[in-house]
Amino acid sequence: MARVYNFSAGPATLPVEVLEKAQADLLDWQGTGMSVMEMSHRGDAFVSIAEKATQDLRKLLNVPEGYSVLFLQGGAAGQFAGVPLNLMGSSQKADYIINGSWGKKAVKEAGKYGDAQVAANSAVDGAFTDVPARADWQLRDDAAYVHYTPNETIEGIEYPDVPDTGNVPLVGDWSSAFLSKPIDVSKYGVIYAGAQKNAGPAGVTMVIVRDDLMGNPQSGVPMVLDYKKQADADSMLNTPPCFAWYMAGLTFEWILANGGLEGMAERNQRKADKLYGFIDSSDFYSNPVAPQARSRMNVPFLLANDELNKTFLAQADEAGLCTLKGHRSVGGMRASIYNAMPEEGVDALIDFMRGFEKANG
Ligand SMILES: *Cc1c(COP(=O)(O)O)cnc(C)c1O
Repeated sequence: MARVYNFSAGPATLPVEVLEKAQADLLDWQGTGMSVMEMSHRGDAFVSIAEKATQDLRKLLNVPEGYSVLFLQGGAAGQFAGVPLNLMGSSQKADYIINGSWGKKAVKEAGKYGDAQVAANSAVDGAFTDVPARADWQLRDDAAYVHYTPNETIEGIEYPDVPDTGNVPLVGDWSSAFLSKPIDVSKYGVIYAGAQKNAGPAGVTMVIVRDDLMGNPQSGVPMVLDYKKQADADSMLNTPPCFAWYMAGLTFEWILANGGLEGMAERNQRKADKLYGFIDSSDFYSNPVAPQARSRMNVPFLLANDELNKTFLAQADEAGLCTLKGHRSVGGMRASIYNAMPEEGVDALIDFMRGFEKANG
């Protein structure tokens, strides 16, 4: 069967080159006579895979000295707990900026461990279409950190810039925009991201943490979520998600070979501009997000007539354009166009949408 264009929000499409490389090495990784899935995580072969992936990620993001890079389990949702457990410190306070569904989940989880307050919320009648203006954030000087979601995957809302939080460390749940463009890591206390949007298969979660923020966790922190313990053990306090880590490493190599994060940013911007440009030019399709906060990764759109949703999805599927159904909380459609979605996939989607509008508009 031919591969389709898969617009899934996550787990999401992977670069074909990455899948082919994994396939070629599946039974015998580089003459070891075994699969990466079957290796001891303490053996030379896997340790070399893990080190290479870590170095490549540091290179891609230009991670400065004084930051540790961890490969953990439990997903981004695990870090909803990991962040407060490691960072809340003596003040026991943290401020959260909410502009979509994932931020809401993050603050709820953090509330189990201390005083996690919503410092800004851009919801209007429960719906999100913009980020909260920085001037409206009610930050507390003694908060241990400020948490925000650079890209809200469900609503398709992305911050154009990194917000300034002064001396209070900034924490970003980068899951759905990780590695889609360069990030100035030095502006952050913690960056975390599940791999399954832009950086590999599900199962591994990257955490980039400023070293001075580690080593003072809450009592009772599970050892696998203790940043300092994991950093000291090279993320191998227990068996790491070896195969997912390896696949993430192949994805990093693919990004490096395709222009690095600048290359990704340029291509992602072009893809997003094309798709939003088409939606805006049509009376049949619409996207409700404020133009300056539109996500380059996740593009939700509505049809003029909701009753056509099922037909749209069925015909798109037949045309090899798959997983376009919007999140149930937003409705309509959502096209996720991460790094691994080729530009031809976006062109094919636009062609299909144009034809569908002609037939049904
Ligand atoms: C997908 C996603 C999550 C959840 O990730 P898991 O790995 O399933 O825990 C959290 N935050 C954002 C922004 C996401 O896109």
